[in-house]
Amino acid sequence: MSAEIRPQPGVMEIALYEGGQATVDGVSDVVKLSSNENPFGPSAAAIDAFRNAAQQLHRYPPTDHASLRCAIAEVHGLDPDRVICGVGSDEIIAFLCQAYAGEGDEVIHTEHGFAMYRISTLAAGATPVEVKERERVTDVEAILAACTDRTKLVFIANPNNPTGTMIGGNEVARLAAGLPPQTLLVLDGAYAEYVDGFDGGVGLVDARDNVVMTRTFSKLYGLGGLRIGWGYGPKPVIDVLNRIRGPFNLSCAQLDAAEAAMRDRDYAEKCRAENARLRAWLAESLAELGVPSDTSCANFILARFADADEAGACDAHLKSRGLIVRRVAGYNLPHCLRITIGDEAACRRVADAVAEFKGRAT
Ligand SMILES: *Cc1c(COP(=O)(O)O)cnc(C)c1O
Repeated sequence: MSAEIRPQPGVMEIALYEGGQATVDGVSDVVKLSSNENPFGPSAAAIDAFRNAAQQLHRYPPTDHASLRCAIAEVHGLDPDRVICGVGSDEIIAFLCQAYAGEGDEVIHTEHGFAMYRISTLAAGATPVEVKERERVTDVEAILAACTDRTKLVFIANPNNPTGTMIGGNEVARLAAGLPPQTLLVLDGAYAEYVDGFDGGVGLVDARDNVVMTRTFSKLYGLGGLRIGWGYGPKPVIDVLNRIRGPFNLSCAQLDAAEAAMRDRDYAEKCRAENARLRAWLAESLAELGVPSDTSCANFILARFADADEAGACDAHLKSRGLIVRRVAGYNLPHCLRITIGDEAACRRVADAVAEFKGRAT
């Protein structure tokens, strides 16, 4: 290949995203607890909507996503004109980087922040800036101190992945208020639904002109495989993002299934409550075995071990028992394992396997 044919600066610095493992060689009856998926799957109404969409596969989808945006707006009490839908919230994150950051610009993410912030920043040709957390919690002071006149975006996930921790509304508001004038704050609310009564940052988006929120159908709504996310922000920001959004970025199947999932409030609430119950049980069970975790506000716990060796050994043991969890060394947490909250049987299997690993078989 000609030496003159080169990708844009930054592109070759991107390390490929590694998805959660789904199989173990030689082990059947595996449970995948590595990608924070809803163990109960999507709402039956969403599956019906997806099936019905099969009859219309020859038709182009609508470009304005009006029906889904209205459903989202109704449920969350939002202005539908300030909602944008994308191919997972990953696409909204990519739009934000593409639209607001380029060569010479800086984009802040936290020490244990979601991998896509860095990937999308580099893809846009901008420079990712990693800011320390305080004991696995977003540090507002440190973020404000890291801002320069080149900072264009600040990404925080609240609750955060893979730590499961979150910061309070006052802290987030202090961050938004303290940013330089050219900086947009992105509140990634992928796990907001798991926090009872939490608006994900809607109040702050409405109160200010420098805050955007991203949300997803991949976690609580159990539609990770279908790829649907959305964002909510000030009208001028949403208008900018819509200019770079492909007109047909979402298929009818995606739009219809997401709308049905959003409107099935009973199912969403059932999944949220069951996650909260099992999360408390699993965290407590592991803590009793000498494996602590921070109080999680999401659908996983970050189990801490003595060191990377012990985490690796426990991971291998869990695998031998058909339990696939996530190593998070790539998130600067080599001594931890991120364990998605499965159904009750899966949680019991995890607790039993960790007990076995710790030499205290139940
Ligand atoms: C899972 C996750 C998302 C969701 O990504 P999708 O593209 O919507 O599937 C976004 N942010 C964080 C922090 C996540 O963990």
